[in-house]
Amino acid sequence: MPKLLLKNLPLAGKKVLMRVDFNVPMDSHQAITDDTRLRLSLPSIEYILAQNAALILISHLGRPQGVTPSLSLRPCAKCLSKLLKKEVLFAEDCIGPSVKKQVEDLPRGAILLLENLRFHPEEEHPTKDFAFAKELASLADFYVDDAFGASHRAHSSISAITHYFPKKAAMGLLMEKELSFLQHVFEHPQRPFYAILGGAKIGSKLGVLQSLLSKVDALFIGGGMCYTFAKALGLKIGNSICDNALLPKAHDFLDAAHKKNTPYHLPLDHVAAQHLENTQKTRVFSSKEGIPLGWIGMDIGPATIDYWSQELQKASTIFWNGPLGVFEFSHFSKGTSAIASTLSTLKKATTIVGGGDSLAAIHSLGLENQFTHLSSGGGASLELIEYGHLPGIDALSEV
Ligand code: AMP
Repeated sequence: MPKLLLKNLPLAGKKVLMRVDFNVPMDSHQAITDDTRLRLSLPSIEYILAQNAALILISHLGRPQGVTPSLSLRPCAKCLSKLLKKEVLFAEDCIGPSVKKQVEDLPRGAILLLENLRFHPEEEHPTKDFAFAKELASLADFYVDDAFGASHRAHSSISAITHYFPKKAAMGLLMEKELSFLQHVFEHPQRPFYAILGGAKIGSKLGVLQSLLSKVDALFIGGGMCYTFAKALGLKIGNSICDNALLPKAHDFLDAAHKKNTPYHLPLDHVAAQHLENTQKTRVFSSKEGIPLGWIGMDIGPATIDYWSQELQKASTIFWNGPLGVFEFSHFSKGTSAIASTLSTLKKATTIVGGGDSLAAIHSLGLENQFTHLSSGGGASLELIEYGHLPGIDALSEV
């Protein structure tokens, strides 16, 4: 059943509670270092304000344990105010009598950002009576979810809250755009369709890799997780990270790839170091010779970059999620940057990138306008591919 959309809501004169994803990176002085997530929420915000509704924004930031001043959303109110060229009010909490009063006094066309939802543990761990969600819901007439990046989490402000907005819980413009784009690409991709997956945590990626096997024409696997597959194939991986408990599942995945006839590419070579640090003391080892003990595979090597860059030219659609090396260290960021550059030159292909690390690499190279779609939800897009649905979308009202 199609979901209710923001544009379906009769908003004039009403109060709207919108869940956004303002989980922005900040430096040690609480200065926002990348305001992309705030900018992405502007279309929905501007639309709601233009309908002469009062707008209450809710979000999480980081992983606080209780009230943590360094994870306050106040800097987001200031930054959003600059972007909108309009005052953005801020509430010191997200529930309680003083917030209620601020919301009651909020005029139509005004905007109020509430404090970090995760200062209340009930946000991530809803109680059986949903008291926290109920109190949040009591603030407004309508609920809008525009937090695509958080929609894979069944948290109070995403799932439980919609119980209190029957036929009044709608999808925001960013959420709608992300969903229609990802669904369209995965349901009707222009072929050949290739996926590149990187990152360290194989445990969180095996499911999506399995589901990609029946969707894509080839898989490219880099990052720390490639070493569990390499070990499963009997290759020497030295001291590279490896999830030994998942070796049987890695085997099963490789078998399934053979059975399905889906080609997969593991790195041909590796840039390795002796310690997990940004050292210049590196060596390149081919996968065939293997990485000797005492060395850690930190990035895909030059032969891999060349070969993958050539292969990727054949694709009509490419989905990429996750860094291909320890890209936070300059000596091991080459693989991730090189693949970002290659994708940016493929003018005829549809290129979709998700995941904070891959996006950071693209931003640092100034290539953000060279891709078809940069997804605001790395984890959410992977779960959408793996399961075909997301808790945050399931919870919304149907039309
Ligand atoms: P994930 O959260 O699973 O997407 O993993 C992202 C992390 O993977 C980044 O912090 C990278 O530094 C890390 N990573 C990428 N390649 C490697 C590698 N070869 N060894 C260890 N960590 C890696």
